[in-house]
Amino acid sequence: MNTTEIKEWLREVEHPAKGDKNIAELGMIENIEIVDGKVAVTLAFEKHRDPLAEYLIGSTKATIIRHAGPGTQVEVKTVIRNEAPKKKPGLDLGFEELENVKHVIGIASGKGGVGKSTVSVNLAVALARLGYKVGLADADVYGPSVPKMTATEAEMPDAFQEGEKEVIMPLEKYGVKWMSIGYFAKPEQALIWRGPMACNALKQMILQVRWGELDFLLIDMPPGTGDIHISLVHDIPLEGAVIVSTPQDVALADVEKGVNMFRNESVKKPIFGLVENMAWFTPAEHPDERYYIFGQGGRLRMAEKYQIPLLGQIPIVQSIREGGDNGEPAALSSRPDGLAFIALAEKLAETLK
Ligand code: ADP
Repeated sequence: MNTTEIKEWLREVEHPAKGDKNIAELGMIENIEIVDGKVAVTLAFEKHRDPLAEYLIGSTKATIIRHAGPGTQVEVKTVIRNEAPKKKPGLDLGFEELENVKHVIGIASGKGGVGKSTVSVNLAVALARLGYKVGLADADVYGPSVPKMTATEAEMPDAFQEGEKEVIMPLEKYGVKWMSIGYFAKPEQALIWRGPMACNALKQMILQVRWGELDFLLIDMPPGTGDIHISLVHDIPLEGAVIVSTPQDVALADVEKGVNMFRNESVKKPIFGLVENMAWFTPAEHPDERYYIFGQGGRLRMAEKYQIPLLGQIPIVQSIREGGDNGEPAALSSRPDGLAFIALAEKLAETLK
């Protein structure tokens, strides 16, 4: 017995749903092997659930045994091929899910580490505390932080098919609707996403989510000012942006890049204002003291040079960092740092009235 012979025998196995053509002429024999006297045949099917698969597997076995003699060991494996490729999600997404969202606002920063995500999460919570309906899409594909900052890492958003489209339900906590790429990808996976793939992923996190009725949808944008941002501001109906920075001059140089990005000819989106994070340090035991450890001149120069209003100032305090680490945003509290976020939220809401 050799594989050519076996292939000949298998011409007797006919597919009843294909005009009685046999599995050899239908090209369904993917592979035949004989190992230690055992025959292993792999049959290829076009569909996941060919209703005749079991019948064809049995018939293949029986035919080989009939020719090779009783006691012949036969194993039949199956593979699926030529399945119509699934439509890539995230490509042709419309704006339907944003129809009932009043303001879509990007939270941007010229570089990472200035507290953009901290400000986004706390601003969302603060707006909710003021009674607004708020959602936050964590579009920071390179370092999603919403799951950790809201202690929802263990949760998985529901998703369902609606016609051609897959819809994702946001999670709800602290009165805010949250969505993050972090719920779907492990941190090390997120890092390998490049260019178009990252763009599609983050568009899904915004356009495929059933946000429902919202006053504000905040988009925590990836840090920096690369291609991904240009693509994002083109593909998402952003109304405008809020820029987060720290007071150091170096950080301000990066703010300039961010400002130029939004004011670029091809983008032209308004900048609603600047949030100065880590504006001063207040020791926990002396709540009335303010130490301007990073200086104070920067924001004034910024305001003058670019005519960008200052929307808020957030102190650098341990409770904000701790709130981020243990998933209880500082904006939930009535401490001075919590109130700083409330003041920021009030100012933003007023600006957008
Ligand atoms: P970005 O999103 O800009 O990369 P993050 O929001 O992740 O920055 O903040 C970076 C780190 O700084 C986090 O550990 C965060 O808890 C801490 N942090 C941010 N803002 C403050 C603040 N005002 N006071 C104390 N810690 C802060």
